[in-house]
Amino acid sequence: MRIVRFAKDGDVSFGVVEDDSVAAISAHPFGNVQFTGVRHDLADVRLLAPMLPSKVIAIGKNYAEHAREMGSEAPAEPLIFSKPSTSVIGPAEAIAYPQKLSQRVDFEGELAVVIGRLCRDVPAARAKDVIFGYACANDVTARDLQKRDGQWTRAKGFDTFCPLGPWIKVGVDPSDLGIRTLVNGEVKQDSRTSQLIHDIPTLIEYVSQVMTLLPGDIILTGTPEGVGPLEVGDEVSVEIEEIGTLTNRVVARA
Ligand code: MG
Repeated sequence: MRIVRFAKDGDVSFGVVEDDSVAAISAHPFGNVQFTGVRHDLADVRLLAPMLPSKVIAIGKNYAEHAREMGSEAPAEPLIFSKPSTSVIGPAEAIAYPQKLSQRVDFEGELAVVIGRLCRDVPAARAKDVIFGYACANDVTARDLQKRDGQWTRAKGFDTFCPLGPWIKVGVDPSDLGIRTLVNGEVKQDSRTSQLIHDIPTLIEYVSQVMTLLPGDIILTGTPEGVGPLEVGDEVSVEIEEIGTLTNRVVARA
């Protein structure tokens, strides 16, 4: 099942994508989905970020080859940081390049885990009980600011620096999916989620020991090797097998 959030005629709803149409659901998609009976052609709605999370927790250096390209060892424990909820955008929105502050903005294609239940202290063995679904994400990063600041809040936290979507795929095994990032159609990252150093159950156990997770919260699982720069005018796509393709344009920040 693919869950979207969409705008149509000024109204915002969640919906379920079925072939080329979207069936609206009432309230939120957690628990039993209630269809409203309203249906639109997918081409006639604007897809929004499929979730508005209370927080986005991301994992640094969770693919060995990416840790190596960044000139460091893979951390023994998950390395977590957060991106503000205001960084999240959907597939129809543009990444705003903050040219006054940064001259090096990178893409990082990542698998996003969407939490489905309020939870904390979740043992890895029970992690699947708190997962709602999965999406494509781009952990956009001002690499020059990341190096300069010594911590990552500014570099990772600009508005629009967390594209998410195009939908949430429910009921997929995430343990070995192809993940690719393309810029203007050229493949830049090409790996598999089986290469994650700390797997998803481990990440949920680790993060939920620190903070309560709420329905809709997002965990970005880390990026594979091949990160590189974006320029204004580029089109960047994150493709994950069995989930979908998230495409965003890059524009200059006004
Ligand atoms: Mg990342």
